[in-house]
Amino acid sequence: MTDTVYKINELFETIQGEGAFTGQPSIFLRLQGCPVACSWCDTKHTWDIEDDKIIPVKDMFAKTSETDEWSSMSVVQILRLFKAQAFQAKHIVITGGEPCMYDLTPLCNGLEEQGYSCQIETSGTFEVLTTKDCWVTVSPKIGMRGGYEVLRSALHRANEIKHPVATEQHVDDLKALLEQHDVENKAIYLQPISQKQRATELAIKACIENNWRLSVQVHKYIGIE
Ligand code: SF4
Repeated sequence: MTDTVYKINELFETIQGEGAFTGQPSIFLRLQGCPVACSWCDTKHTWDIEDDKIIPVKDMFAKTSETDEWSSMSVVQILRLFKAQAFQAKHIVITGGEPCMYDLTPLCNGLEEQGYSCQIETSGTFEVLTTKDCWVTVSPKIGMRGGYEVLRSALHRANEIKHPVATEQHVDDLKALLEQHDVENKAIYLQPISQKQRATELAIKACIENNWRLSVQVHKYIGIE
């Protein structure tokens, strides 16, 4: 098995609260690093990769608050940790940060070989490098401060497209993006930003009008990570 290493900010077992896998027990692997710079990002502590923020795996795993510290872990170490923690979930969600800054093929290969299914959550601004069986969730970040374009290749690789919305403009931006890149026959989820009532009402209306689906970040309503 490969010994490629990844920069891990956080690793925990919970229930997936978004998109097609809502309700699925999952192990979340949060990778360090993201240059996309979304203004509403709720994981800003994952943006920078500073060499002096590296910590031992046991300290990363014992974190009780969000920090910009990270651990370097190989696929073999990650699998060992899953076993040591007696995690029961067989679905792995690789998130960030922006996980597609990295080639995720060795990671997903190693996990799939051990019977896990993999899902990547990406902004769509980097090439998606992973296995063919990996479920890819693209949450397209359009016109963010970092200046990255959403890639046509990422949209076409997506198994689902999940879009955060707070205003009509966000809905229009998504429609324009799908049209520009000839994206058809994808499961599209609208996700109200920050559980705001206005955003939720807007998302419901747009879902009904376009035959899209609603994703409400169930984990935030039931108070889990
Ligand atoms: S792509 Fe994700 S991690 Fe990066 S800034 Fe945007 S919301 Fe935050």
